[in-house]
Amino acid sequence: MNSRAKKIIGWSMIGIISLIPVLLLFTLGPEYADFSGYSGITQGLGEITGLVGITLFAITFILSTRIRFIEEAFGGLDKVYIAHGILGGTAFILILSHPVFLVLKYIPSYIQLASTYLLPSVYWSVNFGIIAIAGLIILIFITLFTRIKYHTWKFTHEFLGLVFVFAVLHALLVRGSISKDYIFHGYYIYIGIVSAMGIFAFLYSLFIKERIMKNATYLISKINHKKDIWEIEMTPEHKPINYQSGQFIFVRFYNEKLSKEAHPFSIASKSNSKNIKLMVKSLGDFTTRLENLRIKDKVSIEGPYGRFNFRNQKNHNQIWIAAGIGIAPFLGMVEELENSPDFKVDLYHTAKDQSELIGYNFLKLFSSKLKNFRYIPWSSGGNKRRIDTKEISRLSGDLMEKDFFLCGPENFKEDMIEQLVNVGIKKSHVHEEVFNFR
Ligand SMILES: Cc1cc2nc3c(=O)[nH]c(=O)nc-3n(C[C@H](O)[C@H](O)[C@H](O)COP(=O)(O)OP(=O)(O)OC[C@H]3O[C@@H](n4cnc5c(N)ncnc54)[C@H](O)[C@@H]3O)c2cc1C
Repeated sequence: MNSRAKKIIGWSMIGIISLIPVLLLFTLGPEYADFSGYSGITQGLGEITGLVGITLFAITFILSTRIRFIEEAFGGLDKVYIAHGILGGTAFILILSHPVFLVLKYIPSYIQLASTYLLPSVYWSVNFGIIAIAGLIILIFITLFTRIKYHTWKFTHEFLGLVFVFAVLHALLVRGSISKDYIFHGYYIYIGIVSAMGIFAFLYSLFIKERIMKNATYLISKINHKKDIWEIEMTPEHKPINYQSGQFIFVRFYNEKLSKEAHPFSIASKSNSKNIKLMVKSLGDFTTRLENLRIKDKVSIEGPYGRFNFRNQKNHNQIWIAAGIGIAPFLGMVEELENSPDFKVDLYHTAKDQSELIGYNFLKLFSSKLKNFRYIPWSSGGNKRRIDTKEISRLSGDLMEKDFFLCGPENFKEDMIEQLVNVGIKKSHVHEEVFNFR
């Protein structure tokens, strides 16, 4: 099944899971689900936004578990994280709309009631909802509008689990205390189950996964360093992992000078080769401490994840475009072209100047060795401009016949995708590796 079909399956599953509580709400009958008139419509929309919002909120936690079958359903972990972001944003909007509709119900007839509706009261079931919304606003504000360090942001993001618990308490208790509903209506049970799954998924990611998951362990066997780029090779302590070149792994180095947080890096070696190679650029507090790594340091590896490999596409006529450290996932793939003569690849690699082109000699060597591979280094300083579709079609011919693989900084990729789409390339022919999960 291709990645597009998988994505459709993933999104359809989310659609069904989040709309079931609405259908169940309708089964309550006109006494509880009366959508007629201004008051019925605002009340109904208030209920629907709340129910769908909390269901999507629960799904965001389930998506963050990095469980294999979820990655399968979406055709790659990067797509799972994209879905996570979209659902988180949608849940936020729906949950904010929920009290707005309920207040609108009392306007204009009961202005006084409307004005105090969102203030804390003797009803704890309502207060839980107010706490959840306040917490959500603060945490989403931090995510969208602050530039704090990744691990500080991740720490704040984990409080969303607590906010979710308050939202669940509100959803489950409020109808009993305010609307005097029977607790065993179908949608109650459904929301209860989905919420329990969301809370379990949150606890699993935060506390359980690391304890029960048996990650593969490797030992560092080689470290090379040039300017701000680290080449790290690791050899399996016991059993090696199976992987495709271009996939990525979460790596945790056991070195007292480095944090124990797992970081994602692309595999820069050939599929299933015993040793795994990484190419890492020093960027922030973790990667600038890599100088402390020593031969024989233990490394725990989670994965592999991702689908960024040339063999996953039917079209064998491909253009690969890398910017800077974005060359990492292509390095192992290039080695494999030797045994894949039916693929024809042009690799464009761009950096400010030639000395910054990582793997230049290695790629030049392969380009001279292989008939089906061309390496086109592009120094934006030397060429006095960035690589663009005009230049690519001049050097590689008709772009319409090809599939494109992109990896590099976000702004570079966005710009390249826009150019490709503008010349008529379908988005389904453009495959990118995302280097940013925030
Ligand atoms: C799928 C994937 C593949 C990647 N492959 C490579 C590679 O081959 N070579 C390479 O040099 N870089 C790669 N990266 C980027 C690399 O993960 C970050 O540069 C590194 O984690 C930065 O950590 P830092 O603390 O030094 O920098 P920071 O300044 O703290 O972080 C810089 C950015 O890196 C990301 N990041 C930081 N910590 C984490 C984490 N624990 N989990 C997820 N993202 C994090 C965030 O987007 C953050 O904004 C990849 C990222 C992803 C998502």
